[in-house]
Amino acid sequence: MTSPQNDRVFITTSPQGLRYDLPPMRLWNKAKRLGIWNPGDIDFTQDIADWQQLNDDQREALARSSALFLAGEESVTLDLLPLILVIAREGRLEEEMYLTSFLWEEAKHVEGFRRFFDEVAQDHTDLARYHGPNYRHIFGEELPAAMNRLLTDNSPVAQVRASATYNLIVEGVLAETGYYGFERTLTQNHILPGMQQFIGLVKRDESRHIAFAVYFISRLMAEHGESVWTALQERMNELLPFTMGVVSDTYVTYQDGKMPFDLPHDEVLGYAMTQFQKRMSRIERARQQTLDEINSIANELDEQQA
Ligand code: FE
Ligand code: FE
Repeated sequence: MTSPQNDRVFITTSPQGLRYDLPPMRLWNKAKRLGIWNPGDIDFTQDIADWQQLNDDQREALARSSALFLAGEESVTLDLLPLILVIAREGRLEEEMYLTSFLWEEAKHVEGFRRFFDEVAQDHTDLARYHGPNYRHIFGEELPAAMNRLLTDNSPVAQVRASATYNLIVEGVLAETGYYGFERTLTQNHILPGMQQFIGLVKRDESRHIAFAVYFISRLMAEHGESVWTALQERMNELLPFTMGVVSDTYVTYQDGKMPFDLPHDEVLGYAMTQFQKRMSRIERARQQTLDEINSIANELDEQQA
């Protein structure tokens, strides 16, 4: 009893089955092994004690970074769905399977950062005071607009602009710079071991998110050519000043450009800039590659990191 319209092809019951050789399936396998930790299980006992020993400036600096992360994790949780929808509509089952773990990981990150404020800082005030103008521009305007555009425009250019905003700028530059700041302050001062553990787990999840984006954008370039690369460069350059502005906004609140815990502005800005350039050159190398080459290179990199 098939109607002429009902010519749906099922991937998994076709001779093709599931493509375990695709990079997103390798990331999916990794996510099932490494992404299953529980933010509710992190032990903050020592963190609560350490927090009492910090001075006001140090507490302020940690609360500021955590407030940027908390609203950032909320944003990426709420804003991811249009990208998943586009991929589902294109029937890319393996990519969607991986993205189910991506979204659940973002939800865990939200929970972990909120636990920090509830249990360690015990701060229930309005944390939006920490969100500067550049932060508000990226998370309040650019990110939701680029993602929601996919609901009405599924063109390769719209897809690459969304992924550049979400994965390369927000995850690849802003979040990575944030982990660097946490590592420099918490690890080197041997404080807040629960937060150190939590940040380490978040960072490991995020490395898969960025690996997916590098694959995704490379695939778009292989399928649609130079227009994707041009759109990517345009988007990254549009967002660069606001991205660096997020770092600068943090520092205008501190005298002589130095943060508590002695983390100089130019060191953080330099790190952010390096992250930006690293992502761009990884993707630029994929410009000349075919889809098969992209798949095997992504899998090789994956093996080296395993
Ligand atoms: Fe996250
Ligand atoms: Fe992420």
